[in-house]
Amino acid sequence: MERIKGIAASPGIVWGKVLLLGEAETHVPRRIILEKEITGEIDRLHKTLEHALRALAQLRQHTERELGADAAKIFAFHEGMLKDRSLIDPIENSIRVAHANVEAAVTDQFQKLSRQFRSMGNEIFAAKADDILDLQRRVLGLLMGEEEDRLERLSEPTIIVAHELTPSQVAAVPRSKVIAFVTEAGGLTGHTSIVFRAMGVPAVVGCLNIAKKLQDGDEIIVDGDSGEIVLKPDAQIKSDFQKRAEQSARVRLKLEETDSLEAITTDGVRIQLHGNIEFPAEVENVLKHGGDGVGLYRTEFLFLTSDTPPDEEEQFESYKNTILMLKGRPCTLRTLDLGADKMTQEMLSEPERNPFLGLRSIRYSLQHQPMFKTQLRAILRASAFGPARIMFPLVSTLMELRQAKLIVRDVMEELEEEGIAFDPLPKIGIMIEVPSAALMARTFATEVDFFSIGTNDLVQYTLAVDRGNERVANLYTAASPAVLHLVKNTIRAGRYANIETSLCGEIAGDPVFTMLLIGMGLRTLSLVPGQIPLIKRVIRSVNLELCERLARKVGSFDSEHQIQTSLRDELRKLDPANFGGWATA
Ligand code: PEP
Ligand code: MG
Repeated sequence: MERIKGIAASPGIVWGKVLLLGEAETHVPRRIILEKEITGEIDRLHKTLEHALRALAQLRQHTERELGADAAKIFAFHEGMLKDRSLIDPIENSIRVAHANVEAAVTDQFQKLSRQFRSMGNEIFAAKADDILDLQRRVLGLLMGEEEDRLERLSEPTIIVAHELTPSQVAAVPRSKVIAFVTEAGGLTGHTSIVFRAMGVPAVVGCLNIAKKLQDGDEIIVDGDSGEIVLKPDAQIKSDFQKRAEQSARVRLKLEETDSLEAITTDGVRIQLHGNIEFPAEVENVLKHGGDGVGLYRTEFLFLTSDTPPDEEEQFESYKNTILMLKGRPCTLRTLDLGADKMTQEMLSEPERNPFLGLRSIRYSLQHQPMFKTQLRAILRASAFGPARIMFPLVSTLMELRQAKLIVRDVMEELEEEGIAFDPLPKIGIMIEVPSAALMARTFATEVDFFSIGTNDLVQYTLAVDRGNERVANLYTAASPAVLHLVKNTIRAGRYANIETSLCGEIAGDPVFTMLLIGMGLRTLSLVPGQIPLIKRVIRSVNLELCERLARKVGSFDSEHQIQTSLRDELRKLDPANFGGWATA
């Protein structure tokens, strides 16, 4: 038995058998086949392609059901490619003429095609090159003892353990086959962790070197509440965790009793709780838990799960559907936050040296104006169907904001000339997620309708700690006097200018921070929909005086440790039975 401490990325306690997922091919077998083997090899090729197509079709349907049509498009595109004769014919030829074995023939042809696409020097073709390599991995995996097959053959739901998983890999795993995810890489606010929480599956990330300690079928316990993993647990530990899991399940069930209740403090202060979503289908969860709207729609996920940039019509449909589902509740659409770890690096022939400090978010949009304008057209057109708010990410200078607003004006003029309906006065706001913006919040506040504080990035840029790097995860915390100073400055600036300030970083869904955030003056939080019941329960257990007192106390501390301990103590004191578990992480 061994215990490993990782980072609790998505709540829930489960135990079960492990399935290790790794990179598919590493050593492709190569041999010259005999004349009499040719038919057999070509037969294997076609059977494999059929198998891959079946798996892709299932993935497409599954993803469509779980995450909506937009997210499923990536698989439809892959299916099309695998049916394309211009890809298959050369593979057959190589088997027939050069007597290559099927693994080698597949590898050579996919590699050649990928190189051809990449050499075209265009971003769209470069993205295609990556798709081809993705497909190559899938087909080779099937030929050589494949992952999907292993997932399909599973007789019981399993815990997936991998070095690293991308958001789209996670979205593709059938929910009925997985009870938890464990990865060696990653941080709490990394985008894969965000998808784990969107799926509602327990997950622990940042478990260094765990994969080499495990084999398929080994039993482990995953505690997504505390981040603990127990390898090969004995009977006593299992029974301890069983009790913890039962207690946690009871608490969660009880929490859902608040679904129909308001998020209001005991002395009557109403807190708006909005949902952070990546896909329109998540609105259902926001509404189920009684959320007041969508405070952060990460629209770039539409691009991340699609092989071609979605056109204006596709974007419009997604935004419109989201807005309609919300039935008059506000929807804050964040313009594309591409760059850094999201998509653009793979499209460059020479990746940026420091992508998180590079062409990211609003900077990327301002340098790709046709793409930006297309998105703004889609958002504005959708704004005719309900309250839509536009939010720019990663704004670090006033010039960026002014430029972005000018482009919004341009797009409005175009739509007006074309006689297309839109809201002429949409609320326009910015994320405060860079120290420069937080420090200059007073100035920014005079030019926007709202602020949303993005602590996920604000922490990484203030403390110079990569949010997705497990090696420095111990240094990554919002309970930092420096970060809280910037948050406070932003709230004050918002109040002074009489604009709404909300917070949409992951701490909005962490009960340890709820009292502090209210005490600092926030009245709107936007969080992962599954956490709404818990945060609502905390809100319904406190009064403003208690929160403000805590904020004052914490404001006088100068160490992360003191702040963290004090926040946890207060939560535990509030209701040890219900909140104790969340105060120990
Ligand atoms: C943030 O940075 O806090 C945020 C909410 O945005 P994202 O996590 O998408 O970077
Ligand atoms: Mg951010």
